[in-house]
Amino acid sequence: MKAPTVPNTSFVDKEFGGVDQLLEYCKALPKIELHAHLNGSISPESLRQLAEKRLAGTVGEAEAATGALSVLEALEWKDTFDLKDFFPMFKHIYALTNNMAWLVFIVHGVIKDFEDDGVRYLELRSTPRDDASTGLTKELYVQTVLQAISTSPATKISTRLILTIDRRHSPEVAMQIVDLAIRFRDQGVVGVDLAGDPYAADFDCKHALLKAKAAGLKVTIHLGEIENREAESASMLEVRPDRLGHATFLSEQLRAHVYEERIAVEMCMTSNVLCRTVSSYEEHHIKEALELDHPSILCTDDKSIFASPLSCEYALAASTFSMTKQQLFDLSKKSIDAIFANSEEKTRLRGVWDTWAP
Ligand SMILES: [Zn+2]
Repeated sequence: MKAPTVPNTSFVDKEFGGVDQLLEYCKALPKIELHAHLNGSISPESLRQLAEKRLAGTVGEAEAATGALSVLEALEWKDTFDLKDFFPMFKHIYALTNNMAWLVFIVHGVIKDFEDDGVRYLELRSTPRDDASTGLTKELYVQTVLQAISTSPATKISTRLILTIDRRHSPEVAMQIVDLAIRFRDQGVVGVDLAGDPYAADFDCKHALLKAKAAGLKVTIHLGEIENREAESASMLEVRPDRLGHATFLSEQLRAHVYEERIAVEMCMTSNVLCRTVSSYEEHHIKEALELDHPSILCTDDKSIFASPLSCEYALAASTFSMTKQQLFDLSKKSIDAIFANSEEKTRLRGVWDTWAP
């Protein structure tokens, strides 16, 4: 998949001196990434490296590697996705990231990629998984990802973990994930997410999310990703989530509620446009949110699947909505308000922004 083209406009020329300079500015700008799925953020190079190493392994490993290579090939010619064939792709990536050593390798790589792109605070999210063939359990999965975060050689970025409940999980599994989040909260887990194929299953984990809230964990929910899910979205909002992912399709009433309650929205423009839930960058709902000064955080979702690093999302926003350097800086700095880490970390990050000079 090719990186999205950032359109040149007379505004871009005037404010930045051209698209290349805009991209440079956006890369240098300190940024906050709050909606990044671990397995969708593995660079194609890392995935290929992993696949090639495993091709030389056992038969089962070779099969996993072949599956992942087929995903890479498919991605090369894809222009858009249908949400219905987007989610099945991940099983091939999961098959490659099902043991502890590989998990550490990919977490280190993903954190480094974000750091190189100018991200200074990252909340990675991932679904704890079991894999009997490698002895992986949900608990070991969380421990391994946290250990990889704490041993990451990247020094300019701080990283936290959000545990994702998949919509297809039973209420019992959802509860197990919340219990793991509670157990590992002092080691870097800051919240719980609900994600997964919105066509696959109905919302069935309200109790688990409420338990997470009651325990003081933060909650973010993939909300309104597809049309005609008003009742479900209303039920999800009853959990009083701290942030929302996407919030694309909402009734006027629910959108007004989100605005009134000032629930921060993780905005993933390229993801939405490529998955065709939003028709164009110009039509993206971030436009209205920015006009209303509603808390909005630019995020990548799955930066490697969509070939768009966070700096590119900032450049696209600048070009599409004629945002100045100062407006981009303010947008990235205000994102600090929405992070799930504590107030000390927020203060530290504001210091990083205040001392930054382009
Ligand atoms: Zn997502």
